[in-house]
Amino acid sequence: MPEEVDTSKVSDHLNRFWKGEKTCPICRTNNWLLEKQYGSLPVFDRQKPFYMAGPVYPLAVITCKTCGYTFYLNAMIAGFLKPPELPQATASAPVKVEDKKS
Ligand SMILES: [Zn+2]
Repeated sequence: MPEEVDTSKVSDHLNRFWKGEKTCPICRTNNWLLEKQYGSLPVFDRQKPFYMAGPVYPLAVITCKTCGYTFYLNAMIAGFLKPPELPQATASAPVKVEDKKS
């Protein structure tokens, strides 16, 4: 049985971090659906590019109910799911991305 999304946590997270108008970038409505099941993004492996089993990034899925535009939040980074214990060599290192606007 898949673990259900606590949609109130996703809603709180969006309201805390989403700055500006919370409208869809495609149709400009504010009509979001917080999916109750986590999605997943497969980890890319050049040796097996079309192999669909293996590690994934767990994602909270947010969909515009008007046009279908969909975006994701990494459920572990956002704190919706507890990260699994990983060997140090497997864990990703945090990286600061420069903002070139300033
Ligand atoms: Zn839309």
